Amino acid sequence: MRNYEDKIISGKIISQQIKDEVKEEVASLKEKGLYSHLAVVLLGDDPSSQVYVRNKELGCEYCGIESTVIRQSKDITEKELLQIVKGLNKDKKVHGILVQMPMPEHISKEKVILAIDPMKDVDGFHPYNVGQLLYGSSDVLLPCTPSGIMELLDRSDIAIAGKNVVVVGRSNIVGKPVFHMLLERNATVTICHSKTKDLVGVTKQADILVVAIGKANMITGEHVKEGAVVIDVGVNRVNDKLYGDVEFETVAPLASRITPVPGGVGPMTIAMLMKNTVKAALNSEK
Ligand code: NDP
Repeated sequence: MRNYEDKIISGKIISQQIKDEVKEEVASLKEKGLYSHLAVVLLGDDPSSQVYVRNKELGCEYCGIESTVIRQSKDITEKELLQIVKGLNKDKKVHGILVQMPMPEHISKEKVILAIDPMKDVDGFHPYNVGQLLYGSSDVLLPCTPSGIMELLDRSDIAIAGKNVVVVGRSNIVGKPVFHMLLERNATVTICHSKTKDLVGVTKQADILVVAIGKANMITGEHVKEGAVVIDVGVNRVNDKLYGDVEFETVAPLASRITPVPGGVGPMTIAMLMKNTVKAALNSEK
């Protein structure tokens, strides 16, 4: 059976390139006495969150970025959590702050995001950074998964300007920010969601199709135009196996390029977090 290797956009390879670049930058900054430090707050013992945080620690270790994980019970009060965030905001030795999602239900995610100093908001979720993204600024901290998608396209020499791009999914962490990034790069962008009528009719127009729905194999060959570039953000665990939102078997034969799951967008998120942490450290020197 054909594996479509020639069509694969490998997030594994591209994220490694980015981490190597960050590692080099961190080493040269250290020679000038500049350090980068990421603080991650982890609430409770959710297994997936533990794995995500461990991978962030490993990413920091690889790049030479200092990291601190602050572990707290999931029963922590909102006030106590906000105090921790305030402390990290004030700590000059900490450049990036991330509170691992999902948060316990009694804590307002919005309040926590608002409490993080936008200059240390390496997740790029603070309304200040979101607003700057809407204004077209690339100088601020931008969310990691959407930035990773842009890197995948750029480093695969996929032209964006003038292309019809369809984004399926309008979440604050993927769909909406990547919509704005693509628009800023002069694509003609359409965004779809669960109320979109005739999804197939819209996605079939896409030269570049970005899918972030959270439903295993939802996008199939019937949704895709021949020659389209397909970026699958989905990570869906079904019976202990990972699936994307795109049905690889029916879409890969049609696509000109496609990201696999796993090994596509997933590894890019951590690489971009590393990049953001160094950016935050450099900004703190300005
Ligand atoms: P959300 O659940 O926040 O958003 C899903 C979006 O998909 C919503 O906008 C929803 O529409 C839309 N949607 C749901 N069903 C349909 C449908 N039938 N037709 C069209 N649109 C639909 O998801 P996230 O953006 O947080 O995540 C999406 C996927 O990406 C998940 O699998 C997640 O695990 C993965 N992910 C991967 C990351 C990575 O690092 N690789 C990082 C972040 C997420 P509506 O708004 O109308 O409800």
